[in-house]
Order: sequence, then C-alpha cells, then structure tokens
Amino acid sequence: MSNIAVIGGGASGMICSIFASKNNYVTLFCNDDKVGKKLLVTGNGRCNLTNLKNFDVAYNTDILKYLKKFNQNQTIKFFESIGLVTYFDEEGRVYPLSNTAKSVIEVLVNNLNKNKVDIKQNEEVLFIENVDDKFKITTSVKNYVYDKIVIAVGSNDKFLKQLNIKYNNFSPSLVSLKTKEDTHSLAGLRLSNVEVSLELKNKKIKENGEVLFKDKGLSGICIFNLSAYLARQKNYNAKICIDLIPSLNKEDLTKLLRDRLNYNFINAKEFMQGIFNEKINNYILKMCKIKNEENITKKHIDLLTNVIKSLPFNVLGYYENSQVKSGGVSLNDLTESLQYKHNKNLYFTGEIIDVDGLCGGYNLQWAWTSGKIVGENL
Ligand SMILES: Cc1cc2nc3c(=O)[nH]c(=O)nc-3n(C[C@H](O)[C@H](O)[C@H](O)COP(=O)(O)OP(=O)(O)OC[C@H]3O[C@@H](n4cnc5c(N)ncnc54)[C@H](O)[C@@H]3O)c2cc1C
Repeated sequence: MSNIAVIGGGASGMICSIFASKNNYVTLFCNDDKVGKKLLVTGNGRCNLTNLKNFDVAYNTDILKYLKKFNQNQTIKFFESIGLVTYFDEEGRVYPLSNTAKSVIEVLVNNLNKNKVDIKQNEEVLFIENVDDKFKITTSVKNYVYDKIVIAVGSNDKFLKQLNIKYNNFSPSLVSLKTKEDTHSLAGLRLSNVEVSLELKNKKIKENGEVLFKDKGLSGICIFNLSAYLARQKNYNAKICIDLIPSLNKEDLTKLLRDRLNYNFINAKEFMQGIFNEKINNYILKMCKIKNEENITKKHIDLLTNVIKSLPFNVLGYYENSQVKSGGVSLNDLTESLQYKHNKNLYFTGEIIDVDGLCGGYNLQWAWTSGKIVGENL
C-alpha cells in the first residue's frame, strides 16, 4: 500500500482514483467545489462518454495498445458495474440512459466514496516538488508528502513547468473557427447535410454534417473536427470549402442550374429561390458578384456551380472555449503504464498527455482508458 495523490478531479482523475484505491491510500485533489464538475457540460449536458465506431481515425496518434487494455466496451461494462445504464445512437455515441451527465458523476462519486478515496474539493494544488523518492505537495490548505502522484489536471501545464517536464505546447482543438470572410449576414444559420473540406499539406480532410455560421466564423461538429487537424499542426491558417449540395456532382448540378434557365425566372433572386434559403442565396450571389435584379444567363452557370460546390472560407484563428487542447506530454516519454520514464513515481492521465480525439466521445474514452491503466498499475 502506497500513499498516492491524484491531482485533478476530472474524468481521468476520478476513474484512476477508483482503481488505485483497491491497493493504495488515495487522496483526490480538486480545485473545483465538486469533483467531476466539468463532465456536466460534456455532450451538451448529456455526457457522450465513449463511441463504438471509428477509433482508427479519431486520434492524433496510435493508441491501440492502450485501448487493448481498456476499450470502449470495457468502459461501458465498467460503468454498468458501478450502476450506470447506457445507450448508443446511430453514430455509435454512447450516453447515459438518463441523458444527463449528472448520472455519470453520481455513480463515479458513489464509487470513490465506497472505495474510501479521500476527496479534497476546493483545494487547489499550488506546488509540486520532487524530494528524494517522494513528492511534496503544497495546496491552498496545507502541505503533504506522497509516495507517488498522478497528474490529471487536463490541459494545464503549470506542473509540467514546475517539474521541468518537456511537452508539446497546447493548442485549442474542437473549437469554432474565425474566418477572414464577414459571415455576419449568415450568423445563426444552420446548414445540414453539407460537406466541409480542409486542404492540408499532404491530404484533404472531409467531414459531412452540419455547419453553423457565426458573426465572423464557422462552428458545428464538422468544423470542430476540422479544427482538430489545425490544432495538431499548430497552425490555423487554412482554407475550408463547403459543398452545399454533396449529393449532386458538379455535372448534375450544372445540369440542374442550366435547366432552370428555361423557367422564365425574372431575376437572379427568383432563380435562387427554391434552392437554398434566402440568407445563403444572397451570400452565393454576392460571392459570384451577381446582383439580385440581374438576369441569370448561361455565362453565370459555371460560376454558380463552382461556388455552390465549394464555398470558400479562409481561416484566421479560433474562438475561445475549445472542448479540448491538443498537445501535452508525449507518449514516447511514458511507459505502457503511463508512468513517466524519468521518474517512476510520477504518472499522467487524460488530456495532459499528447492524445486528442475528434468529437463523439473519443476524448472521454482516452480519459477513462488512461485513468484505468494508471489506477490499476499503482
Ligand atoms: C464543453 C465541452 C464539452 C465536451 N464534451 C465532450 C463529450 O461529449 N465527449 C467527450 O469525449 N469529450 C468531451 N469533452 C472533452 C472532455 O471533457 C475532456 O477530454 C476530459 O474532461 C478530459 O479529462 P481529464 O481528466 O484529462 O481533465 P479534466 O476533465 O479537464 O479535469 C481536470 C481536473 O483537474 C482539476 N484541476 C486543474 N488544476 C488543478 C489544481 N492545480 N489543483 C487541483 N485540481 C486541479 C480541474 O478542476 C478538473 O477537475 C468536452 C469538453 C468541453 C469543454
């Protein structure tokens, strides 16, 4: 039995404490007034706790060997074993049956209590010092000494700096993107069933689904997922194109538009009515430099087709409040048990490790996987 401090009462810190407490005395420190508080905002309050599909493409790095130790099915079984009933939707996203993140927190906290984890809420860890084989921890309340510590503070690099641990800088991921184009006239508009694409140095990333327009930028799950690729390359200058009708190829769309030339529409405004809604119609015409009152003729068709199939937006940066951050301690510096290679009494879990996933439950899965692996090996 060792004395262990888990610093950070988020997803990974909680699951780690549950498993670590089977063989150790565990203290869980959290600067929030309640452990697990952040889970309340996940999945729009429903907590999308994992996903049953697409693990091969969801992460910035290969985490298969870790998932082999604790994968999505084992996660669901674990939650069932502590009392949570779950369901999944057609995209494979897993949620609590109650559709509230509060249930996830409740079962975790019940288990922490049953396992006699000493939960110290409202207690911020300020300094960590490595003294001989142990760790001295200074909190907002007092000083402690532990045999081993787990750093589970999310994308907070404070302790990495204090302990002189090298890491990849954090950049916001799963975040709305700011564009050069003024999208004020489209703000609030939600486009379903579009395809967004992002051209990277050596590949093109495509996402299908919904895009939301902001005053000077783009949002929605498709955009969040594209932002992950920009965060990973630490450069947000990029071009995103939206295909407004992915179900038609260019030729079919050209034909559709050409056929409309025979409809006796009185002007461009009327020509576009019945294709998209007014806001996006106006935006398309503006992009094509066609006035509402103008007549649409043969010469406009190719231009309209190109804009509809590839509406361009130049990304300049990101909005505040990302869901996760890309970056952190490299897996290369950790053993398979996520123990720091240069200090056997130091472990990491969750977002502080350089593993980030797309939207859909993949980030929490990493929190559960890494937390379980560390907890079990302590
Ligand atoms: C709005 C939003 C929605 C999301 N939705 C989903 C989703 O549906 N599915 C999904 O998979 N992922 C989702 N995520 C991402 C997911 O929440 C994170 O991947 C996950 O919480 C990371 O877990 P963690 O344990 O590494 O860190 P965190 O959950 O960030 O926990 C860190 C903990 O450390 C504590 N802490 C920090 N510093 C100190 C200190 N000095 N002393 C003491 N305590 C400290 C914090 O208070 C916190 O409790 C969402 C994120 C956001 C912001």
